[in-house]
Amino acid sequence: MKTVAPIVRAEGVHKSYGSLEVLKGIDLAVAPGEVMCLVGPSGSGKSTFLRCINHLEAIDAGRLYVRGQLIGYEEHDGKIHELRETAVAKQRRGIGMVFQRFNLFPHMTALGNVMEGPVEVKKEPKDEARERARQLLGRVGLSDKADSYPSQLSGGQQQRVAIARALAMQPDLMLFDEPTSALDPELVGEVLDVMRGLADDGMTMIVVTHEMGFAREVGHSLVFMDGGVVVESGDPDVVLGAPRHERTQAFLSKVL
Ligand code: ADP
Ligand code: MG
Repeated sequence: MKTVAPIVRAEGVHKSYGSLEVLKGIDLAVAPGEVMCLVGPSGSGKSTFLRCINHLEAIDAGRLYVRGQLIGYEEHDGKIHELRETAVAKQRRGIGMVFQRFNLFPHMTALGNVMEGPVEVKKEPKDEARERARQLLGRVGLSDKADSYPSQLSGGQQQRVAIARALAMQPDLMLFDEPTSALDPELVGEVLDVMRGLADDGMTMIVVTHEMGFAREVGHSLVFMDGGVVVESGDPDVVLGAPRHERTQAFLSKVL
């Protein structure tokens, strides 16, 4: 995997909110088709890091590349300039994001939610977008819910629509921020199954999760973050089975 150009590369990424330093130099690389699970205690900077990857947050130092392209900035004569919002928006289209809380439009059906990005942002013809939205709803197991509104769907179904919605923009990178944390326990499996299917299809994914079973079975790599740094990373079986660092051991003893 090392010789392949990474989809995501972080080099010394720093981020502060005022005097609070949240990311203290994150280095990592995600290869095409890799599923990287990001775990760590609350407040360790996981969400902030994901948000930096699509430049929902500006970074203070370091570099973040997606497909070799600097995200949120351009470099001229060794100097870094922040890109305009339109250019950033273009970069973001290739990156799907799914959050803990389902971000569906309540006044649109499941099908409407999935079509919205391609039609409004990419200006795709409606028939085409509708056809692909139907396929995507099928892919997340919701063919029969196309005409349902979010309020008529369970949390797990809503989250699967949110995944289909992200996929509709045809990303080659998907970021998941605790996608199952807000769900009733019995609904977690159906969302993880959809994510497993995506992984099997070769999607590159970064998944912030407390689901260690998923990390072990589906993840190709596991990164343990604490206090804004990567404490240790590697094969999920190795990190989960034989954590080297005391902080990793302490965290895992609580969640496993
Ligand atoms: P995690 O996702 O690992 O729980 P976060 O990235 O959400 O961690 O947060 C890391 C730290 O940054 C926390 O101390 C949090 O309170 C702080 N933080 C996050 N977002 C903001 C913000 N917009 N303004 C100020 N502080 C923030
Ligand atoms: Mg978080």
